[in-house]
Amino acid sequence: MENIVELIRKGYVDYASYLWREITHPHWKNYFYWLLAVSLFFFLLELLRPWRKGQAKFRKDFWLDFFYMFFNFFLFSLLIYNAATEVLVNFFNKALSQVGMTNLVAIEVSSWPVWGQLLSLFVVRDFIHWWVHRLLHRNRYLWEFHKVHHSVEQMGFAAHLRFHWMETVVYRSLEYIPLAMIGFGIDDFFIVHIIALSIGHFNHANFTFSLGPFKYLFNNPAMHIWHHAYYLPEKHKYGANFGLSLSIWDYLFGTAYLPKSGRNVRLGFPGMEDFPHSFWKQAIYGFRKLKK
Ligand SMILES: [Zn+2]
Ligand SMILES: [Zn+2]
Repeated sequence: MENIVELIRKGYVDYASYLWREITHPHWKNYFYWLLAVSLFFFLLELLRPWRKGQAKFRKDFWLDFFYMFFNFFLFSLLIYNAATEVLVNFFNKALSQVGMTNLVAIEVSSWPVWGQLLSLFVVRDFIHWWVHRLLHRNRYLWEFHKVHHSVEQMGFAAHLRFHWMETVVYRSLEYIPLAMIGFGIDDFFIVHIIALSIGHFNHANFTFSLGPFKYLFNNPAMHIWHHAYYLPEKHKYGANFGLSLSIWDYLFGTAYLPKSGRNVRLGFPGMEDFPHSFWKQAIYGFRKLKK
């Protein structure tokens, strides 16, 4: 028991000091300033070349989403989640060693060049996330939490990180075992996170440009806006365009849906009229639904 308390304490202290160090020490691999820089970049593009010209610069819920960006990217992931997982991963590894397993690696890629390892993590992780995203739509309990992301009424880059913290728990838990089965020889995947962050911001931005044939490979605003469409046809009643960074999974598995330009399509979901608008009410909404 003392062990657990110590692990939690250590987790919090480590990440609190990490966060403080990030803010006070700008450097090239600094998540805090990268998030600011990538956000500023897309905000400028939205100001200079908006896709929906009539949309306010500081659109509806801009500041709510701005808060979500920092909450989800730092406060929750770094402080709360990491402290908790330190305990769980420790338990998990202990349980594995009890049954004689010391590691889960099934595919060894540590001899690959660094770029090959980074690319494979990027693709594999995106594929796992595509399935998890489908699950968030398909499972009615998870959907209650995912509604937070779909409650966006006016689209802009910051909407990317408007999601319930339970999503972090679900995504990270479900990706843990598959990723642990790949034996990476590097542990620095910073660039993969920043690329995923940038593509995610782009997908939600009020800015677009044609990717040409690359639209079948990479997700983009013209495609992702249909993921947020209020009305979807019967065929896609559980959602469409689930892609995060890559769009190819939707084309391969028949979930791509782009009937026409979605520039001014109505966003949200049927029933959103009763969905709360504040951070705290959104935070408890899914749990209240679970009890019903
Ligand atoms: Zn979704
Ligand atoms: Zn989205």
